[in-house]
Order: sequence, then structure tokens, then C-alpha cells
Amino acid sequence: MDSAKSIQISPLQIIDHLKILFHGMVDLIYPPLCLICEARLEQPAKEICPACLEKFKFLGKAHEQFSVPGEIYISTASPLFEFDAPFQQFIHHLKYSRRRKPLSVILNHYESQIMDQLPGQGIDLVISIPLHPRKLRERGYNQVDDMSLWLTRKLNAELGNHLVKRTKYTTSQTQLSAQERVENVREAFGVTKVSALKDKHILLVDDVLTTGATSNALARVLHHSGASRIDLVTLSTPHHGNA
Ligand SMILES: [Zn+2]
Repeated sequence: MDSAKSIQISPLQIIDHLKILFHGMVDLIYPPLCLICEARLEQPAKEICPACLEKFKFLGKAHEQFSVPGEIYISTASPLFEFDAPFQQFIHHLKYSRRRKPLSVILNHYESQIMDQLPGQGIDLVISIPLHPRKLRERGYNQVDDMSLWLTRKLNAELGNHLVKRTKYTTSQTQLSAQERVENVREAFGVTKVSALKDKHILLVDDVLTTGATSNALARVLHHSGASRIDLVTLSTPHHGNA
């Protein structure tokens, strides 16, 4: 009789078994595929296969020169990865698929290189380049917020996204000249609390560094609000080496 007792299964255990069976069936019908190469994933939680993770090219040096006319308010700019086909594909997913996990998978995979690349200790605030509220609504979330949050934890800094805002809706800048981009974003940003920015070392975060006009426009406002130093980190740049 005792042995019969030991094989009793509670309703909760049955539910657990059904869940496992259900997920197994879903995986069978929709096998988890690598976001980049669509190979079947051995570790579904990673979302990107080990071969593709290794294929991203970590740049490992600061962006030398901005092609922005006028004063530059950014001390160093560190685009992390080469803007090659796999990385462009990843950034596209980041913007439009709302799959947020792959970003942290990449950041964790390259954590030590990223930490070496950033401008040392003493960063007080990490701030995402904000989207205009309208664009935020269209897209659902700011695709760089997860990177800012990740950096905040690793750098033991504070998240300062609430301290800045985008006040002007700007359309795509791809067709504009460097000078036109500067004009286009000049009044695009504002701050919500000047006192919280005074004497702060700030790390700005964006996805792609093109001319630097947008990040420099925000850096200008932060500089005038009393920030002591402003650096920039981006996931990638198509202009590495030749600004
Ligand atoms: Zn892959």
C-alpha cells in the first residue's frame, strides 16, 4: 500500500507535465531558430546561435572623429560592433520585432570587451537618447533602454532617462547633409531636472552612430546643464574609421 502512495501525482504535477508537453509540441511545430541565420537553436533561451554570436565583430576602439560641424560636447564615442550584414540584421530585429532578449545575450557574451572599451570608472548616469513620445508610441519601446539598463547595473551607475526628453519630432535624417542634421536636431532635446545633472559624468546610449549630430545635440543641452563630462556608447556605426 505504501508503494501505491509513493506514485500518487498531484494535480499541480499533472499541470507541470502538461506544460512541458505543450512547450515540447510548440517547439516541434515552431522550432526556436537563431535570429540571424535561422539555424535550429540548441539553447532556445539564447535566441542567437553560438556561431553567429562569435561572428559579430567587436570594434574595440573609440570613434576618432565626428563629422558634425561646430563644437563637440562628447569626450569619447565607442561604437561597439562593426555594422556588417549580421549586425544590421540584428539591429533591424531590435527595432521592429520587439524581441528584447537577444540584446542582453550579445551584451553578456561580450561583457569583458565592452567594459574595457568604456571610459573607465566614475560614470554617474546612463541615459538613452530619448525617442519623441510619438515615435515611442509607434514603436512600443525605446530599443536602447535595455542596453542602458544593462550598463547601469554593470557600471554601478544610475539610470537617468527621466532627466531628459525629446521635445521635437524629427523624421529620418538619412537624406540630410551634416549641417542640415545639426539644424534638424538643434532644439530637439530638453532636460527635466537641471540640478540632477550638475557635475555628473554621463554616458549616453544609442543604437547606431552616424554623424553624431543627434547625440551631440543632447550632449550640448547636458553640458549647459552643468554635466562634468559626457561620453557616448552605441551598438554600432557604419562610419568607423573615416567618421
Ligand atoms: Zn545563427
